[in-house]
Amino acid sequence: MRSGRSEVLVLGAGVAGCALAHHLALRGIAPVTVYDPNPPAAGASGRAAGVVTEQLWSRFDVEVTRESHREYAEMCRRWEPAAFFENGFVRVTRDPAVAAILTEALERWRSFGVNVDAIGAETLARRLPAGRFDDIAGAVLSPYDACVTPSSITTIYAEAARGRGVAFDFGQPMTDLVRDGPEFVLRRGMGELRARTLVVAAGAWTKALLLRLGHPLPLVPYRTQAALLRPPGAGAEEFPTIHDLDTDLYVRPEAMGRILGGDGTERVEADPERFVAGGDDAFLAHLADGLSHRLPGFAASEVLRAWAGVCTATPDRRPLVGPVPGVDGLFVMAGFNGFGIMRAGGVARRLADHLADGASEDGPPETLAPVWPGRFTLPHPPFVPRPGFTLEAGDDPRC
Ligand SMILES: Cc1cc2nc3c(=O)[nH]c(=O)nc-3n(C[C@H](O)[C@H](O)[C@H](O)COP(=O)(O)OP(=O)(O)OC[C@H]3O[C@@H](n4cnc5c(N)ncnc54)[C@H](O)[C@@H]3O)c2cc1C
Repeated sequence: MRSGRSEVLVLGAGVAGCALAHHLALRGIAPVTVYDPNPPAAGASGRAAGVVTEQLWSRFDVEVTRESHREYAEMCRRWEPAAFFENGFVRVTRDPAVAAILTEALERWRSFGVNVDAIGAETLARRLPAGRFDDIAGAVLSPYDACVTPSSITTIYAEAARGRGVAFDFGQPMTDLVRDGPEFVLRRGMGELRARTLVVAAGAWTKALLLRLGHPLPLVPYRTQAALLRPPGAGAEEFPTIHDLDTDLYVRPEAMGRILGGDGTERVEADPERFVAGGDDAFLAHLADGLSHRLPGFAASEVLRAWAGVCTATPDRRPLVGPVPGVDGLFVMAGFNGFGIMRAGGVARRLADHLADGASEDGPPETLAPVWPGRFTLPHPPFVPRPGFTLEAGDDPRC
């Protein structure tokens, strides 16, 4: 497409933008264009681990993740069955004080309707024969949690949207993004894209794009890492994803007997245009230590690949989904704090409903209230990203 006018222009073809395009198309909103200077899943969505768990901070998180889970199961069953499997999610600790907090979290998750139970060392050892659990003080298992291949679900959403008429505009660098009367205008290589409704769903680039439009929101991009490993011998059988609370490492099964391990949050701002994209030695050393203690059967694994990606933090760890305050027609869907794969489907569905309902300015619908961008007083002071996989309750007012 050289130039064109859309009802909705979505910036970003990661899992968020593609899921939103799909849901807009399902609701008959047209024409919709998704613009990305890169191919789909070029950002964090092509670098994520794809863990989908309901052991989360708040009721909102649990509900949107459950919606995503159902949708990913259904869409992958239809288009790429190997891209989704339910293997369960385990959290373990050897620290009695952390075990007490884990027990509190277990009660909270149950109050949100999460299927989760305490699990003993012997049962764990049966589920995870590569592990060593004789020192644990506490462990919980949510047996229906899952893994999805992040690039696959992004592509599935994009193709489903394309099948319903959404236009995708890839690969041409943006030269300008401005407001022209009631419309937003994006200029790139050849021609321009215009729309009255602009949704910025550009992951770690969202901060700079909103700043460019003159409407900054509190977002901080940060780097996080993962690695793909091949255990010795025949490789790993399917096992529950395990998160070791003492080291903050998680490990999940991957196709062909491989395993995927990752860690949490770097507490400094990263630039998505200029970050170190490979995994660093300190991360690999930490992963090796964690495996030799907790998963000794995987300790002699060969590292096939290690990489980093850039996620986006918000001050309260809830995403920003809805209208940018004070700007008619400008919306945001970003700030997933490292959990954007599991949140995207549910959040996209809710934002698409809101846009289809006419996106009234009367305040947030209940479905989006905890993530409404207007909850912050602006300008917001600088803040540091907080770690991802923690046990405390979120600051969701509905908790
Ligand atoms: C190592 C790692 C492990 C992770 N593990 C998990 C996990 O297990 N579970 C989970 O839920 N989440 C996980 N995440 C987080 C998850 O990857 C992100 O939250 C999610 O992918 C964010 O999706 P997004 O679509 O918002 O952003 P992105 O996927 O980053 O997409 C943003 C897009 O915007 C595009 N863009 C850039 N500039 C512009 C522009 N000017 N205009 C338009 N578009 C532009 C980019 O090219 C990119 O395609 C992990 C992340 C990493 C890095």
